[in-house]
Amino acid sequence: MSWDTIIGHKSQIEFLKNAQSSKRVAHAYLFVGPRGIGKHLAALTFAKALCCENEGAACERCESCKMVESGVHPDIRVTQSDERSGAVKIEQIRGIQDRVSLASSQGKFKVEIVLGAGAMTAEAQNAFLKVLEEPPKDTVLILVADNIEALFSTIRSRCWVVKFAAMGISVVEEILKRDYAAADEAAHFLATMSGGRLGEAISLLSSDIIERRDDILSGRWDLVEEDQKTLEILCGIYRDALMSKVNAHRALLVNADKPAEIEKLTRSNSLDAIIKILEEIERSSLYLKQNVSPKLVFMPLQERLKRMKSLATLGK
Ligand SMILES: [Zn+2]
Repeated sequence: MSWDTIIGHKSQIEFLKNAQSSKRVAHAYLFVGPRGIGKHLAALTFAKALCCENEGAACERCESCKMVESGVHPDIRVTQSDERSGAVKIEQIRGIQDRVSLASSQGKFKVEIVLGAGAMTAEAQNAFLKVLEEPPKDTVLILVADNIEALFSTIRSRCWVVKFAAMGISVVEEILKRDYAAADEAAHFLATMSGGRLGEAISLLSSDIIERRDDILSGRWDLVEEDQKTLEILCGIYRDALMSKVNAHRALLVNADKPAEIEKLTRSNSLDAIIKILEEIERSSLYLKQNVSPKLVFMPLQERLKRMKSLATLGK
């Protein structure tokens, strides 16, 4: 990884490079922006540059750079939210407190990266505040968060906030075609589904989302998985139908590569019915997030979709 290989985020990268070259690296940064746009990669790249044994950006040749690439650098630690609870817990922050009290093993910076920092529990945030209040020498703390509403203002105000933004759908579409050899139709669908977030689009590219979308469009319910991704796909499909009702340009549709199917859905359903189903998809998504059993969420939704004689009859 290097600054040169990160696509987009030019001004953010310039800012971080300048901080390093002018020797004004702050003790704490807060990288904020939507999920899947490269904040984590930017944090690691910054850490790599800071720890490089040579001046300037990461040299890629020294021992430190090589350790970063193999993910074993002793002075660069990444803390992630707990898989089960989704929270960043106080024990994890205590680990950071212990580590930053020790000297760096390579004589350069020590970098602690906290992913999903917005999910720190209140106790974890209080512990983190202590680290921020008495920053150990040559330690750089990087909080990475999709949303910072739950973060104490006392934490936010002690960090340099670096805002990252999604690139936009058309830019991501171009990158998918140019650098990832995605076909035109796939690139448009994936870029739109990702909401213009490159990292998300790349992970969708290697997923089965297109096949899943096609199964849904053909009404093959037995193959449809009962999860959040299915709801997102359904939402894209019905949103397209809604857009088509008002004669939106094809380029604005998520499923622009499936004009016949979208057209059929649009014709066979009233505006009111489409809005109702979109509301139901929205509600279902909320229930899933609240851990309601997928079976209970999907059964009524599928019944309703079948009753609309739309998706279920499309493939026939
Ligand atoms: Zn190096």
